[in-house]
This record gives sequence, structure tokens and C-alpha cells, in this order.
Amino acid sequence: MISFARRHLVPYLPPILKDFILALFRAYYNMSDCVFCKIVNNDAKATILYRDEQVTAFRDLHPAAPTHILIVPNKHIESVNHLQPEDEALVGHLFTVAGQLAVQEGIAQNGYRLITNTGTDGGQTVFHLHMHLLGGGRMTHITK
Ligand code: 5GP
Ligand code: ZN
Repeated sequence: MISFARRHLVPYLPPILKDFILALFRAYYNMSDCVFCKIVNNDAKATILYRDEQVTAFRDLHPAAPTHILIVPNKHIESVNHLQPEDEALVGHLFTVAGQLAVQEGIAQNGYRLITNTGTDGGQTVFHLHMHLLGGGRMTHITK
């Protein structure tokens, strides 16, 4: 579809419209292929622990600690590299929800780890921004 648009539509458009339309196509195809978007939209199963208009939190499918929760924005943002200034409140909200979930899971007092992997070298495997909340035991090495 992207190549169809590039061949048949894009050559006739002014550059600013061209970039906008290609960005829309890319966003649509990333989202329809994204497992976390599917979980947010109830198109894939997960153990959902929290949901509001901005974020969704669910248990990691392959837990790396006794408590391992993922907190994701409901809108598809690929990674920290793709954050915009207007996403600052959303990023703050991810931390607030992480703190609330830590209390709910009974790990707040002993402590926990929040991790956001970014890009391939950062160990990111799902390209929808997310925060790992890990706890329930002492972290002695880099986990996740
Ligand atoms: P990353 O490696 O990108 O930082 O973290 C991705 C995390 O998503 C991994 O810990 C992985 O276990 C988890 N994950 C991948 N696919 C699914 C899924 O379909 N459902 C859930 N609940 N977690 C997933
Ligand atoms: Zn997504």
C-alpha cells in the first residue's frame, strides 16, 4: 500500500502534503501490526491491570521478575525517539500509574525497577513505547 501511494499519489502532491500522507500510511500500518495496539484495543488477550484514556497496563507474557507489568500509552508511539513535546504529560502519567501499580502489587515499600528499552541496541523488541515495572525480589543485575 505504501509503495502504491508512493508511485501513484505522491508524485503529484506538494512536498508538505506528501510527507503528511506518507506519515499517515506508516502510522496505520505500524498500528495494525502492533501487538500492544491490539492489546489496547482488545484485539489481543492480556491480563489487563489498569486502563484509562491515556494508558493501559498489563502483565508481561514472559515475566522476568515475580511482578512484571508493562505500562503503555494507548496511542501508538514507536519509542522514546518518537516522543514529541506534547507527549510530556503522557510520559509523566506513565510514571504515576507505575507508582500506583507498585502499591497495588505490594512492592512499593521494598522497591522496584522501571525500564524503558529504546531501539535495537537498547533491547527493544516491541516497537510501541512501554515501561517495564519489575519487582518482588532484589535486582542484582540488568533485568530486561
Ligand atoms: P522490550 O523487549 O521491547 O523492552 O519488551 C517487550 C516485552 O513485551 C517483553 O518483556 C515481552 O515478554 C513482552 N511481550 C511481547 N509480546 C507480548 C504479548 O503478546 N503480550 C504480553 N502481555 N507481553 C508481550
Ligand atoms: Zn502500537
